[in-house]
Amino acid sequence: MLPDLERLIRLQELETAVDRARLAIEAFPAQRAALAARLGEHAGRLEAAEGRLAEHRAARRNLEKDVAAVQSRLTRFKDQLMAVKTNKEYHAVQSEIAGANAEIQRLEDRILEGMLEADELSADIDRLRTTLAEEETVVGEEQRRLEQDRDRSRGRVDSYAGDRAALVADLPPALLDTFDILIRGRRGIAVGAVHDGRCGSCQVRLRPQLYNDVRLNQRLIQCESCRRILYYPIEADASPRPS
Ligand SMILES: [Zn+2]
Repeated sequence: MLPDLERLIRLQELETAVDRARLAIEAFPAQRAALAARLGEHAGRLEAAEGRLAEHRAARRNLEKDVAAVQSRLTRFKDQLMAVKTNKEYHAVQSEIAGANAEIQRLEDRILEGMLEADELSADIDRLRTTLAEEETVVGEEQRRLEQDRDRSRGRVDSYAGDRAALVADLPPALLDTFDILIRGRRGIAVGAVHDGRCGSCQVRLRPQLYNDVRLNQRLIQCESCRRILYYPIEADASPRPS
């Protein structure tokens, strides 16, 4: 391969890698926020379930207070029963006692019902706690991976100027100018491979003679449509093509 063409390909690879690194750095805050939101969602579910359990416990304490109030009424009725003088009064107090007993039964049924629901809620809370702990591990790992990616990307951007200087040292200045103009005007791609007789960047079919020349990788040839510098990918040719 023509040495200048090889340098241009390496320069293009550097530009592409740095572009990708800049995008990764830009995307990092949003990705980190998405991870935090994912964790927050699980924590919110757990908090809501704990809130429901606390409500249940408060409701149960109120029902127990109600039972105590009815029981003290019942005690008073039983005392009254000793003091009644007429049959009519006796029956009236008896009916109050029956009413109070029925109310206690009803309140105790509700307490029992609430306890069963609280058991289910407690089991839910245990499950949610386990899930949250697992998510914390997964999200923590994901966050570390993101940070490592970002640090690698920063390193790539930081070393860009030096890497580029080393690559362009031996390039003729006019060629470097062409490269820089193309990369600015052609969405970051100044040097592109040909595929199946076409420019891989703009997809225009090359004239057969031009394609044959490109395949040799011995001359600097620009696409007649997009002006990008073309090369024939040697490694792709060496490996067997999928049929
Ligand atoms: Zn083209």
